[in-house]
Amino acid sequence: AAHLKDVDPEIANAVELELGRQRHEIELIASENIVSKAVLEAQGSILTNKYAEGYPGRRYYGGCQFVDIAETLAIERVTRLFDCKFANVQPNSGSQANQAVFLALMQPGDVFMGLDLAAGGHLTHGSPVNLSGKWFKPVAYGVRRDDHRIDMEQVAKLAEEHKPKIIIAGGSGYPRHWDFEGFRKIADSVGAYFFVDMAHFAGLVAGGVHPSPFPHAHVVTSTTHKTLRGPRGGLVLTNDPDIAKKINSAVFPGLQGGPLMHVIAAKAVAFGEALQPDFKVYARQVVDNARALAATLKDAGFDLASGGTDNHLMLVDLRPKNLTGKAAEAALGRASITCNKNGVPFDTASPMVTSGVRLGAPAATSRGFGVAEFKKVGELIAETLDGLSANGEAGNGAVEAKVKTTVLELTGRFPIY
Ligand code: PLP
Repeated sequence: AAHLKDVDPEIANAVELELGRQRHEIELIASENIVSKAVLEAQGSILTNKYAEGYPGRRYYGGCQFVDIAETLAIERVTRLFDCKFANVQPNSGSQANQAVFLALMQPGDVFMGLDLAAGGHLTHGSPVNLSGKWFKPVAYGVRRDDHRIDMEQVAKLAEEHKPKIIIAGGSGYPRHWDFEGFRKIADSVGAYFFVDMAHFAGLVAGGVHPSPFPHAHVVTSTTHKTLRGPRGGLVLTNDPDIAKKINSAVFPGLQGGPLMHVIAAKAVAFGEALQPDFKVYARQVVDNARALAATLKDAGFDLASGGTDNHLMLVDLRPKNLTGKAAEAALGRASITCNKNGVPFDTASPMVTSGVRLGAPAATSRGFGVAEFKKVGELIAETLDGLSANGEAGNGAVEAKVKTTVLELTGRFPIY
């Protein structure tokens, strides 16, 4: 049994370098997290060898009795976690979970509604470059200009006008709670399915610090690797037995072949972890930390889309500092603080440049950062970006080097793996 470093030193080196990056940088990408060793172990297990097309007890291959244990546990745990009746834990990603909903509930050419990508929606909710926008007819709703909250009046008006088959709530860059009840009322008024993509905030729902999409949603999808802190993957939930049947057929054989049983086992481990009392403490801390970071940045003169955050993420509007998202991402990267450039609502800069950065608390909270550390992170961000705004694209090397030293000290106090 030769080890990776002996068999393939080049790949082992890439993994080692990435481990160093994760250990020594402050991760603020809102869609990322740091999984437990138990999740890693399950995902790296021999379950990867097994073909198991079908569902527990109804497989197209022999020898599935043990992987059935893993998938059954994953289903039991995730339905308990989100208090719903049916789950499909096989989607390989959040995008495939969303495709499964489309395949199950729509025909090509059907109309659906989702949050505009430019206002914080996701690619799979109707972007013209995504299958959802190529094969279906998306109608985008947005946020209000004055407070950047979802414009529910516009949602109702567009629904009445376009009679969509599905209305989607959820996105990748929306820092506030969603009015699930209000969406369901609008969906009911036009006979649409109400679909919640809770990829970003699923862990907060699991931890009891965010409203649950149930009982309002007909169908719910999520990724498993963001706030939920599991392996990369997707899932679909519902309370409706007819929808559950259609979703199962859509995932397999509609979209996928053999499920990734090692990933499903790791999902089960993560769901088990999320059912522990500790996870409630974690979810509460994520929200407290995001608030502390938001307040620190506001004090330092940055604008925040919608003025703040209710969840794990925020959109920092850099225009008051005359900075672009692209330059800010690069400067923070040089100082070992990792984030992504992101458009802010009604941004006039191009998507490759943007006027903002998106920051999230899930990963650094997992390594143990509390409110004090997040305030410090806010100060380090302000220091780095003020250095950039004073010196143009090149930034201020001395400031960035000093911040990097503080980041090393801070991450050293909260080691991972
Ligand atoms: N849905 C939302 C709201 C997301 O933010 C994401 C991830 O960025 C996805 C779906 C897609 O997930 P994946 O990257 O696993 O395909």
